[in-house]
Amino acid sequence: MTRRDPGLAGRTFVITGAARGQGAAEAELLVAEGAHVIATDVLDEDGAALAGRLTAAGPGTCEYRHLDVGSEQAWVEFGEELKPAGRQVHGLVNNAGVPYRPRLLDVDVAGWERTFRINLTGSMLGIRTLAPLMPRNAGASIVNIGSIAGLTAHHAAAYTVSKWAMRGLTKVAAIELAPRGIRVNIVHPGPIDTPITAGADPVFLKATIEQTLLGREGRPDEVADMVVFLLSDRASYITGTEIPVDGGHTAHGGTKSIIDALARAQAAKTG
Ligand code: NAD
Repeated sequence: MTRRDPGLAGRTFVITGAARGQGAAEAELLVAEGAHVIATDVLDEDGAALAGRLTAAGPGTCEYRHLDVGSEQAWVEFGEELKPAGRQVHGLVNNAGVPYRPRLLDVDVAGWERTFRINLTGSMLGIRTLAPLMPRNAGASIVNIGSIAGLTAHHAAAYTVSKWAMRGLTKVAAIELAPRGIRVNIVHPGPIDTPITAGADPVFLKATIEQTLLGREGRPDEVADMVVFLLSDRASYITGTEIPVDGGHTAHGGTKSIIDALARAQAAKTG
Protein backbone atom coordinates (compact mmCIF):
# COMPACT_ATOMS: atom_id res chain seq x y z
CA MET A 1 0.00 0.00 0.00
CA THR A 2 1.37 3.43 -0.86
CA ARG A 3 1.40 6.12 1.84
CA ARG A 4 -1.15 8.85 1.19
CA ASP A 5 -0.08 12.42 0.44
CA PRO A 6 -0.56 14.31 3.72
CA GLY A 7 -2.13 17.14 1.72
CA LEU A 8 -0.24 19.89 3.53
CA ALA A 9 1.93 21.44 0.80
CA GLY A 10 0.47 24.61 -0.67
CA ARG A 11 -2.36 24.77 1.86
CA THR A 12 -2.91 27.65 4.29
CA PHE A 13 -3.14 27.09 8.04
CA VAL A 14 -3.88 29.61 10.79
CA ILE A 15 -2.34 29.05 14.21
CA THR A 16 -3.24 31.24 17.18
CA GLY A 17 -0.67 31.98 19.89
CA ALA A 18 2.03 30.93 17.45
CA ALA A 19 4.84 33.34 18.33
CA ARG A 20 6.49 30.84 20.67
CA GLY A 21 6.07 27.50 22.41
CA GLN A 22 3.89 24.80 20.90
CA GLY A 23 2.28 27.09 18.31
CA ALA A 24 5.69 28.02 16.92
CA ALA A 25 6.66 24.33 16.74
CA GLU A 26 3.47 23.58 14.79
CA ALA A 27 4.20 26.46 12.41
CA GLU A 28 7.74 25.17 11.89
CA LEU A 29 6.57 21.66 11.06
CA LEU A 30 3.89 22.87 8.65
CA VAL A 31 6.35 25.12 6.80
CA ALA A 32 8.78 22.20 6.60
CA GLU A 33 5.95 20.27 4.91
CA GLY A 34 5.56 23.06 2.32
CA ALA A 35 2.46 24.73 3.79
CA HIS A 36 1.71 28.44 4.19
CA VAL A 37 1.16 29.42 7.82
CA ILE A 38 -0.54 32.54 9.15
CA ALA A 39 0.99 32.70 12.61
CA THR A 40 -1.02 34.94 14.92
CA ASP A 41 -0.29 36.19 18.43
CA VAL A 42 -0.02 39.33 20.54
CA LEU A 43 3.79 39.02 20.84
CA ASP A 44 4.57 40.93 17.66
CA GLU A 45 8.36 40.91 17.84
CA ASP A 46 8.59 37.15 18.45
CA GLY A 47 5.93 36.45 15.84
CA ALA A 48 7.59 38.52 13.11
CA ALA A 49 10.99 36.95 13.87
CA LEU A 50 9.47 33.46 13.66
CA ALA A 51 7.80 34.20 10.33
CA GLY A 52 11.08 35.51 8.87
CA ARG A 53 13.07 32.52 10.12
CA LEU A 54 10.58 29.92 8.87
CA THR A 55 10.12 31.52 5.46
CA ALA A 56 13.90 31.66 5.02
CA ALA A 57 14.12 27.96 5.89
CA GLY A 58 11.21 26.96 3.57
CA PRO A 59 10.01 25.14 1.57
CA GLY A 60 6.71 26.62 2.78
CA THR A 61 6.15 30.18 3.96
CA CYS A 62 4.97 31.93 7.10
CA GLU A 63 3.44 35.35 7.66
CA TYR A 64 2.83 36.93 11.06
CA ARG A 65 -0.34 38.79 11.95
CA HIS A 66 -1.28 40.46 15.24
CA LEU A 67 -4.49 38.89 16.57
CA ASP A 68 -5.81 39.04 20.12
CA VAL A 69 -8.02 35.94 20.13
CA GLY A 70 -10.24 37.34 22.86
CA SER A 71 -11.32 40.26 20.68
CA GLU A 72 -14.41 39.61 18.57
CA GLN A 73 -13.64 42.73 16.53
CA ALA A 74 -10.13 41.45 15.75
CA TRP A 75 -11.56 38.18 14.39
CA VAL A 76 -14.16 40.05 12.32
CA GLU A 77 -11.40 42.20 10.80
CA PHE A 78 -9.24 39.14 10.12
CA GLY A 79 -12.14 37.40 8.34
CA GLU A 80 -12.90 40.51 6.31
CA GLU A 81 -9.26 40.66 5.23
CA LEU A 82 -9.13 37.06 4.06
CA LYS A 83 -12.53 36.88 2.34
CA PRO A 84 -12.21 39.47 -0.44
CA ALA A 85 -8.71 38.23 -1.19
CA GLY A 86 -10.41 34.89 -1.93
CA ARG A 87 -8.02 33.18 0.44
CA GLN A 88 -8.98 29.71 1.52
CA VAL A 89 -7.93 28.40 4.87
CA HIS A 90 -7.48 24.64 5.14
CA GLY A 91 -6.85 24.44 8.84
CA LEU A 92 -6.95 26.20 12.17
CA VAL A 93 -5.11 25.45 15.39
CA ASN A 94 -6.77 27.08 18.39
CA ASN A 95 -3.56 27.07 20.41
CA ALA A 96 -3.49 30.47 22.20
CA GLY A 97 -3.96 30.01 25.92
CA VAL A 98 -3.19 31.64 29.23
CA PRO A 99 -2.69 30.16 32.66
CA TYR A 100 -4.57 31.63 35.59
CA ARG A 101 -3.52 29.71 38.66
CA PRO A 102 -5.63 30.64 41.72
CA ARG A 103 -7.59 27.84 43.35
CA LEU A 104 -11.39 28.04 43.38
CA LEU A 105 -11.84 29.98 46.63
CA ASP A 106 -9.28 32.58 45.57
CA VAL A 107 -10.58 33.19 42.07
CA ASP A 108 -11.53 36.73 41.13
CA VAL A 109 -14.14 37.25 38.45
CA ALA A 110 -11.91 39.37 36.21
CA GLY A 111 -9.24 36.63 36.10
CA TRP A 112 -11.88 33.92 35.58
CA GLU A 113 -13.49 35.82 32.70
CA ARG A 114 -10.17 36.68 31.07
CA THR A 115 -9.16 33.01 31.12
CA PHE A 116 -12.45 32.00 29.50
CA ARG A 117 -12.26 34.87 27.02
CA ILE A 118 -8.87 33.79 25.71
CA ASN A 119 -8.91 30.02 26.11
CA LEU A 120 -12.52 29.30 25.20
CA THR A 121 -14.24 32.27 23.55
CA GLY A 122 -11.13 32.89 21.43
CA SER A 123 -11.38 29.34 20.09
CA MET A 124 -15.10 29.66 19.37
CA LEU A 125 -14.46 32.93 17.51
CA GLY A 126 -11.68 31.30 15.51
CA ILE A 127 -14.00 28.52 14.39
CA ARG A 128 -16.88 30.91 13.69
CA THR A 129 -14.64 33.15 11.58
CA LEU A 130 -12.60 30.61 9.66
CA ALA A 131 -14.87 27.59 9.11
CA PRO A 132 -16.86 29.53 6.47
CA LEU A 133 -13.57 30.17 4.61
CA MET A 134 -12.66 26.48 4.57
CA PRO A 135 -13.30 24.51 1.38
CA ARG A 136 -16.08 21.93 1.62
CA ASN A 137 -15.17 18.25 1.52
CA ALA A 138 -11.53 19.00 0.76
CA GLY A 139 -9.71 17.90 3.89
CA ALA A 140 -10.16 20.99 6.08
CA SER A 141 -9.36 20.40 9.74
CA ILE A 142 -9.50 22.23 13.06
CA VAL A 143 -7.40 21.27 16.07
CA ASN A 144 -8.19 22.67 19.50
CA ILE A 145 -5.53 22.59 22.19
CA GLY A 146 -6.90 21.38 25.49
CA SER A 147 -4.83 20.15 28.40
CA ILE A 148 -4.52 17.31 30.87
CA ALA A 149 -6.22 19.90 33.11
CA GLY A 150 -9.31 19.32 30.95
CA LEU A 151 -9.24 15.60 31.68
CA THR A 152 -8.79 15.76 35.45
CA ALA A 153 -9.53 17.81 38.55
CA HIS A 154 -6.55 20.10 38.17
CA HIS A 155 -5.03 22.64 40.55
CA ALA A 156 -5.84 25.88 38.71
CA ALA A 157 -9.63 26.36 38.83
CA ALA A 158 -10.43 28.72 35.93
CA TYR A 159 -7.83 27.19 33.60
CA THR A 160 -9.17 23.69 34.32
CA VAL A 161 -12.79 24.62 33.69
CA SER A 162 -11.89 26.49 30.50
CA LYS A 163 -10.10 23.40 29.16
CA TRP A 164 -13.04 21.11 30.06
CA ALA A 165 -15.23 23.51 28.09
CA MET A 166 -12.88 23.21 25.10
CA ARG A 167 -13.82 19.53 24.95
CA GLY A 168 -17.49 20.49 24.63
CA LEU A 169 -16.67 23.06 21.97
CA THR A 170 -14.76 20.39 20.05
CA LYS A 171 -17.69 17.96 20.07
CA VAL A 172 -20.21 20.65 19.09
CA ALA A 173 -17.99 21.89 16.26
CA ALA A 174 -17.31 18.34 15.04
CA ILE A 175 -21.03 17.58 14.70
CA GLU A 176 -21.90 20.95 13.19
CA LEU A 177 -19.08 21.04 10.65
CA ALA A 178 -19.14 17.37 9.60
CA PRO A 179 -21.67 18.03 6.79
CA ARG A 180 -19.06 20.37 5.24
CA GLY A 181 -16.38 17.71 5.57
CA ILE A 182 -14.47 19.74 8.18
CA ARG A 183 -12.93 17.61 10.92
CA VAL A 184 -12.51 18.94 14.49
CA ASN A 185 -10.40 17.30 17.20
CA ILE A 186 -8.74 18.21 20.47
CA VAL A 187 -5.21 17.44 21.67
CA HIS A 188 -4.48 17.39 25.39
CA PRO A 189 -0.81 18.17 26.10
CA GLY A 190 0.77 17.08 29.36
CA PRO A 191 3.59 19.09 30.93
CA ILE A 192 5.43 20.58 27.95
CA ASP A 193 8.63 22.57 28.16
CA THR A 194 7.42 26.06 27.13
CA PRO A 195 7.24 29.53 28.73
CA ILE A 196 3.81 28.70 30.27
CA THR A 197 5.37 25.87 32.27
CA ALA A 198 8.42 27.93 33.16
CA GLY A 199 6.04 30.27 35.03
CA ALA A 200 4.58 27.47 37.17
CA ASP A 201 5.60 26.71 40.78
CA PRO A 202 8.61 24.33 40.62
CA VAL A 203 6.95 22.15 43.30
CA PHE A 204 3.89 21.78 41.05
CA LEU A 205 6.07 20.93 38.08
CA LYS A 206 8.14 18.33 39.97
CA ALA A 207 5.00 16.64 41.36
CA THR A 208 3.41 16.68 37.89
CA ILE A 209 6.42 14.97 36.36
CA GLU A 210 6.40 12.38 39.16
CA GLN A 211 2.87 11.48 38.03
CA THR A 212 3.91 11.25 34.37
CA LEU A 213 4.73 7.70 33.27
CA LEU A 214 7.57 8.76 30.99
CA GLY A 215 9.07 10.79 33.85
CA ARG A 216 9.86 13.98 31.96
CA GLU A 217 8.37 17.07 30.35
CA GLY A 218 7.38 16.78 26.72
CA ARG A 219 8.86 18.92 23.96
CA PRO A 220 6.77 21.29 21.80
CA ASP A 221 7.70 19.30 18.68
CA GLU A 222 6.20 16.16 20.24
CA VAL A 223 2.82 17.90 20.42
CA ALA A 224 3.32 19.47 16.98
CA ASP A 225 3.68 16.01 15.40
CA MET A 226 0.19 15.05 16.59
CA VAL A 227 -1.38 18.40 15.69
CA VAL A 228 0.05 18.34 12.16
CA PHE A 229 -1.06 14.72 11.74
CA LEU A 230 -4.63 15.77 12.65
CA LEU A 231 -4.44 18.68 10.19
CA SER A 232 -3.33 16.35 7.43
CA ASP A 233 -5.26 14.03 5.12
CA ARG A 234 -3.64 11.11 6.94
CA ALA A 235 -6.22 11.75 9.68
CA SER A 236 -9.08 11.86 7.15
CA TYR A 237 -11.38 9.56 9.19
CA ILE A 238 -10.73 11.15 12.60
CA THR A 239 -13.14 13.75 13.96
CA GLY A 240 -14.65 14.68 17.32
CA THR A 241 -11.93 12.84 19.19
CA GLU A 242 -9.59 13.69 22.06
CA ILE A 243 -5.93 12.72 22.06
CA PRO A 244 -3.69 13.16 25.10
CA VAL A 245 -0.02 13.81 24.28
CA ASP A 246 1.00 13.61 27.90
CA GLY A 247 3.68 10.99 28.50
CA GLY A 248 1.05 8.80 30.18
CA HIS A 249 0.08 11.41 32.78
CA THR A 250 -3.64 10.67 32.55
CA ALA A 251 -3.31 6.95 31.82
CA HIS A 252 -3.16 5.63 35.37
CA GLY A 253 -5.89 7.49 37.28
CA GLY A 254 -3.69 7.96 40.35
CA THR A 255 -2.38 4.38 40.45
CA LYS A 256 1.20 5.46 39.78
CA SER A 257 1.56 7.03 43.23
CA ILE A 258 0.31 3.76 44.81
CA ILE A 259 2.73 1.64 42.77
CA ASP A 260 5.58 4.07 43.58
CA ALA A 261 4.71 3.91 47.32
CA LEU A 262 4.71 0.09 47.22
CA ALA A 263 8.05 0.07 45.41
CA ARG A 264 9.54 2.43 48.02
CA ALA A 265 8.21 0.23 50.87
CA GLN A 266 9.61 -2.91 49.21
CA ALA A 267 13.00 -1.21 48.73
CA ALA A 268 13.04 -0.13 52.40
CA LYS A 269 12.26 -3.73 53.50
CA THR A 270 14.97 -5.32 51.40
CA GLY A 271 17.37 -2.65 52.58
P1 NAD B 1 3.15 29.62 25.62
O1 NAD B 1 2.85 30.55 26.72
O2 NAD B 1 4.53 29.54 25.11
O3 NAD B 1 2.21 29.91 24.36
C1 NAD B 1 0.95 30.51 24.46
C2 NAD B 1 0.89 31.58 23.40
O4 NAD B 1 -0.42 32.15 23.41
C3 NAD B 1 1.89 32.72 23.63
O5 NAD B 1 2.64 32.95 22.47
C4 NAD B 1 1.00 33.89 24.00
O6 NAD B 1 1.52 35.15 23.61
C5 NAD B 1 -0.27 33.54 23.22
N1 NAD B 1 -1.41 34.31 23.71
C6 NAD B 1 -1.75 34.57 25.00
N2 NAD B 1 -2.83 35.36 25.04
C7 NAD B 1 -3.19 35.59 23.75
C8 NAD B 1 -4.24 36.33 23.15
N3 NAD B 1 -5.13 37.02 23.87
N4 NAD B 1 -4.30 36.35 21.80
C9 NAD B 1 -3.40 35.66 21.06
N5 NAD B 1 -2.39 34.96 21.57
C10 NAD B 1 -2.29 34.92 22.92
O7 NAD B 1 2.68 28.17 26.12
P2 NAD B 1 2.40 26.81 25.30
O8 NAD B 1 2.73 25.69 26.18
O9 NAD B 1 3.00 26.86 23.95
O10 NAD B 1 0.81 26.88 25.21
C11 NAD B 1 0.09 26.52 24.05
C12 NAD B 1 -1.23 25.88 24.43
O11 NAD B 1 -0.98 24.63 25.09
C13 NAD B 1 -2.08 26.69 25.42
O12 NAD B 1 -3.43 26.61 25.02
C14 NAD B 1 -1.87 25.99 26.73
O13 NAD B 1 -2.97 26.16 27.62
C15 NAD B 1 -1.76 24.55 26.26
N6 NAD B 1 -1.10 23.64 27.20
C16 NAD B 1 0.19 23.83 27.58
C17 NAD B 1 0.79 22.92 28.43
C18 NAD B 1 2.22 23.05 28.86
O14 NAD B 1 2.64 22.34 29.80
N7 NAD B 1 3.04 23.88 28.25
C19 NAD B 1 0.07 21.84 28.92
C20 NAD B 1 -1.25 21.68 28.52
C21 NAD B 1 -1.82 22.59 27.65
